[in-house]
This record gives sequence, C-alpha cells and structure tokens, in this order.
Amino acid sequence: MEELYKSPRYLKTVGPKRVALLKKLNIHTIMDLLHYYPARWEDRKHFKPIASLQHEEVASVLGQILTHGSEEKAKKISIFKLPITDGTGVLWAVWFKKSQLKYDVFGTFKSKFKPGQKIIVYGKIKYSYGYKEIVVEEYELLSSDEENESLLIPYEKEKEESKEETKFFLHVGRIVPIYKLTEGLSNKFFRELMYTVVSQYCAKEEDVLPENIRRKYNLCSLSEALQYIHFPTTWEQRDTAHKRIVFEEFLLFQLAVQIARQKYKSITKPHSYVIKRHLLTPFRQNLNLYANFDFTSAQKRAINEIFRDMLSPQPMSRLLQGDVGSGKTVVALSAVLLCAENNHQAAFMAPTEILAEQHYITFKRFLSSIPVKFALLTSKTTRKERQEIISKLKSNELNFVVGTHAIIEDDVVFPNLKLIVIDEQHKFGVLQRQALYNKGTHPDVLVLTATPIPRTLSLTLYGDLDVSTLDEMPPGRMPVKTLHLTEEEAYMFVKREVEKKHQAYIVYPLVEESDKMELKSAVKEAKVLQEKVFTNYRVGLLHGQMKGSEKEKIMLDFYNGHYDILITTTVIEVGIDVPNATVIVIQHSDRFGLATLHQLRGRVGRSKYQSYCILVGTPKTDEAKKRLEVMLSTNDGFKIAEEDLLIRGPGEIFGTRQHGKLSLADKFSLGDIIRDKDILYQTNNLAHHLVQEGLIYKDEYRRLLQKVYKLYSDKDKFLKAS
Ligand code: ADP
Ligand code: MG
Repeated sequence: MEELYKSPRYLKTVGPKRVALLKKLNIHTIMDLLHYYPARWEDRKHFKPIASLQHEEVASVLGQILTHGSEEKAKKISIFKLPITDGTGVLWAVWFKKSQLKYDVFGTFKSKFKPGQKIIVYGKIKYSYGYKEIVVEEYELLSSDEENESLLIPYEKEKEESKEETKFFLHVGRIVPIYKLTEGLSNKFFRELMYTVVSQYCAKEEDVLPENIRRKYNLCSLSEALQYIHFPTTWEQRDTAHKRIVFEEFLLFQLAVQIARQKYKSITKPHSYVIKRHLLTPFRQNLNLYANFDFTSAQKRAINEIFRDMLSPQPMSRLLQGDVGSGKTVVALSAVLLCAENNHQAAFMAPTEILAEQHYITFKRFLSSIPVKFALLTSKTTRKERQEIISKLKSNELNFVVGTHAIIEDDVVFPNLKLIVIDEQHKFGVLQRQALYNKGTHPDVLVLTATPIPRTLSLTLYGDLDVSTLDEMPPGRMPVKTLHLTEEEAYMFVKREVEKKHQAYIVYPLVEESDKMELKSAVKEAKVLQEKVFTNYRVGLLHGQMKGSEKEKIMLDFYNGHYDILITTTVIEVGIDVPNATVIVIQHSDRFGLATLHQLRGRVGRSKYQSYCILVGTPKTDEAKKRLEVMLSTNDGFKIAEEDLLIRGPGEIFGTRQHGKLSLADKFSLGDIIRDKDILYQTNNLAHHLVQEGLIYKDEYRRLLQKVYKLYSDKDKFLKAS
C-alpha cells in the first residue's frame, strides 16, 4: 500500500521533466496514475482490408512493409511515406513533421522500418491523386524486437484470426485507451507507462468495498476494475470496470453528504429567533408602497419554510431555487430582517459587484424609513469606508452587510453572525462558502440559485440541503418572446421599444476588440451605435472593467431612465433588475452557453409589458444550434437546466471546469450524473441505509468510512474524522 504513495519518478521511464508534466495532470503519486482513467477508448482491434478503405474513414490496418520508405520535402513540412500491403491493395503510411530543414528530417526514424516487416497502422484514410494514404496517428511494428517484447499483452485469440496474430501490442490491434494529456506527453508513452503501473500495482491498493456490497450489486474487485478500465480486451470488461469505479465514487460521495447531514442535524445552534414583526411588517408595507406588490403564494411558502428552519434549534441549511425573475431577493431579505429583529447579524453575499451594488440600492428602497442598518462592502469600497464598516460590525451597529467575496476577507469580523445568504450560489466555490460560514458559529445558511437542477438530482447531489422552490412568477408577467433575427431587424425592434419609453440592453461577448477573434465588442460598438444607429437616443456603456463607482452610477442612471439603451457585456448576466427594460439583444449569441443565455434573457420580462429577447448571430457548431433551438422553444429554467446538462455534461454545470470547485461532486473522475444516474440512485439508497441504520460505523465498513473522511474532510467540517 505504501508503495502507491511513491512519486512516479521511481518508475523507469519517468525523469524529472516527466514528473513535472505529470504534476500538471495532478498526478503526484503512483496511486494518482492508477486512477488517471482514459478519456475514451478506441476500437483498433478489427483490421480493415486495404481494398475496402474509404476516404476520410479512421481505421486500423495490418500489413507488410513493401519497400524502404522515402522522405519528401514540401514547403515547411517533411513527409515520410512508407508503402504497405495486406494482399488486397497498397496503402501509403504517411508521417508529417514540421521543419525548415531541407533533408533527412526523419533521420533514424526511417531505419526502424524494414521491408517484409509486419506493421499495424492506425489513422485517417485519404485518397490522394489515386493513391490511398493513411495519416498515421499510431503504429506498431510486429517484430520480435526485444524492447517491445515486454509490452506484449496476452490476447484472447479469436477464431478467425491466424496463429501469427495471437499476440498483440498496446497501441493498435486492440481496444486502446486514449488519455487526455498535456503537451510533452504522448499517449504512446503514457500508455506504456500505465501498462507497467497497472501490471505492477493494481493489486496493491486496498479494496474499500466489502464483499457483501460487491456481491449484492454485482461489482468486480478493485484490481480487476483497474486493469479493465485501462486495458480492456473487450467492451464488456470496460463496462464492468466502469460500473465498479463509478459505483465507488458515487457511494463515497453520497456517504459524505449523508454523514455530514446527520451530524449537522444533530447540532443545536447557539442562537434563536422570535418573530417580532417590527421590521417585517413595515417591509411588507414598503413593498406595497414602493413597488406596488405583495408576496406571491410561492414566496410566502418559501418564507414560511425558511422561518421554520430559523426558529428550529438546528442550523438552517436551505437552498432557495427559482427561475430568473421569480423574486428570490425579497424572500432572502425577509430572512435577513428576521435576523435583524433579533439583533443578530447577517451577511448577504453576491458574486458580482454590480449585483451587490444593485441589491444595496434595492434594499435601500425597500427598507427606507425602517430602523435597520446595513452597508455595502465590495473590493471597490474605499479603505476609509471599509474601516468604518469593520468597526461598526464589531460594535454590532450594523445589522447586515451586503457585498461580494470581499466580505470573506479575514479582517471582516462579525461578532454576531447568525445568518448567511449566498446569492447565485453556483458562482461560488465550496471554499468561499465555507470561509463565510466560518465567520459565525453554526450560522443559518440560505443559498439562492436560478440554475435549478432536476429535483431527483438535487436530492442526491445536494442531499445536505433542504430545498424551497419558487415555482410561480410574480403576477402579470408575460413570458419573454425569443426571436432569432439579423442585426438590422434587432435594431428596429430596439427603436420600437424605446419609442414606447421602454429600455433596451445590447449585450456583446467582449469588452474590447480582440485581434484573435472577429467579434464585435461593447466599447467599440457603443460608439458606433450612438453615432450611426441610435442617433436620437441616449446610449450608455457598462462593462466589468469599469471602476466600481462608475458602474454604480451607470446602473443607477439606467435604472432611473437616463439611458434608453445600455450597451454591455455579461456583467449583467446575473441578478440585474430594471423592470422597465423590455428588450435584450444578444450579439454573437452563438458564443454563449445556455445558462448564460437564459440568465441574460431573465433581465427582461420583469414588468407587465411584453418583453423580447433577440438572438443575433449564426450558430456554427451543432452544440450552438441546439442551444439556439432550446432558447427559441422554451422559457422554463428547469427545462433549460436539463437540456444544458445534456449538452454540456455535468462537469460544466457543477463547476469542475468553470468556477473551481462548487459542489462536493467535483471528486467524480469517471462518473457522470446523467449517464450513470441509475448508479447514482442505487448508491443514494445504499448510503442512506448505511448512515440511517448506523451500519457505516461497523467494523466491516471501516475502510469505506476512512476513505470518505480522507476524500471529503477538507470539504466539509462535519466530515473530520472524530
Ligand atoms: P430573482 O429570483 O431572479 O433573483 P428578483 O428577486 O430580482 O428575481 O425579482 C425580480 C423582480 O420581481 C424584481 O423587480 C422584484 O422586485 C420583483 N418582484 C419580486 N417579488 C414580486 C412579487 N411578488 N410581485 C411582483 N413583483 C415582484
Ligand atoms: Mg437574483
């Protein structure tokens, strides 16, 4: 077992340079290597007769070298061509090398190939001037070459294959694993390394799944799984391994979630609340007065659920989900006011400055003449103001702070923090949320999201959260109409709306022009549009690189109707709320992901007027076409989230790629919550059983439990082994 924690530098073919490259892949130990799974597998097992090869097809061919190859020189490239035959035709195996040199670029490489030798080549077929060529991606020589002998893999002989071909190599002539690597590491090298590692070490790792679970769910042993996942000889083997590895990954995760929840639920929080209503009642009156609305029944239900949690002796851990525009902010603000009524402190964290600023402005409006003290804290807050806020927090003069991640900095101390609210929680990482959490002692937690996930999934993935859903839009809202138009048509639309005294957003993917991409940018287009297209209208510009105070001013001016049209970027993606805006034009809309498009669309349709979302731009990829189709066909955030999961895969959504680590679920290296949802539900039930019945603490499951702690204790303070 110890050996598994050795650095890969102890392996024969790995020197310091490769150690560094492996580190880039997050491979620090031999164990990491064993668990670096293929990104995909290719069937290079079945050879195609040369005569049957089609142009552009990718194939494996087994042939015999006809003559010595020859090197040709084109402009900046050298080409090495080697003719081979399998009796049905002649195929030219070609290799390319970039070079400025004139001669002999391939050097000794050429001398590897001798007439009469057998070779397997794998790559794409090209018909070129009457010749058949294969652009070689991988090859292997079938010689008795001593060096290669160690790489021979015993291969189950298939009947129709001749005796000579009963032994095969690693890179061709079999199901071949393809790894996602970094520059400087070839798949060929990596595969050979992996083969050594798997054969030497796969049996050394302890199997944490006890026999009874393996039997019940029909799972292979860990060492088999490791062999089969890297070097399957059949697709069934690959699937067997896949099932076993995903099962373990999901089970560990589900156990982590459920153990954490069990521990969490057994805590008694050191604070309590009483509903006094001296803030809540005037707040509700203000909503009537300043915004002319009352809570929807969905909002009332959510507020009740939240208050019930807050009044209970256990800390609240609740997710409030609801589509863009469903009115999550006032629900969260109600919780903050209950906190203030009890003279406790609250923190309200939003992912962008613009959003935090806007919340601050809204709160000022909704809380005017109500005795509650709060401040805005972002990275743009001046030092002096910041110091003041910090000292007022210390002396309990502030009831709450609204801000960005600036509020999690060390010197911002809340002596009395009892409630934290995290808006657009999917934009934050686990660590950021944890940092805010750690500023209090078992504070109540409310997280908001407009990126809902299907309920069955949220239960299994956020098993540690209770969920409230706003499934109802404020009354009188008409669904936003989405159209795909040309730029000119879009501008006509904008003019029409602005003539009606409404306002418009025009969104660009970039702030400034870039040499690399031919995309229109906000800064440049703002000028062009003001001068050439919208001459008689007031055009404003807002983007993320502006100073905080400048942004605040523009936002406020736009809110107050001083601009007709706001040229902007995705800084307005989340949260921004200007009800009088009725049209949003999204330029180069093919460049944005579904979640972003839907969020942007949510910037309009916030009043009783009909609103429009106009997508400009031609989708070039299938994915972009699909996104456009989805946007044109539905307004339902839940549906969009589901489609998004299908199009992008969960990695993107749960942030493993985009925003750092968002969910505990980032530990999945092979599992895919959509594709493997059956395993997800199975493990969910099993984990529930093991935790609820207390079985997980029995000796039989000791190793399993240890692994849960090992993997997740840094993510969740309830999972510290105790
Ligand atoms: P989101 O859920 O996307 O965060 P917001 O909280 O920004 O939505 O609310 C969207 C808009 O709807 C805001 O202008 C808000 O003031 C308004 N709103 C919220 N609740 C209601 C309601 N019950 N009736 C009418 N308008 C409402
Ligand atoms: Mg919001």
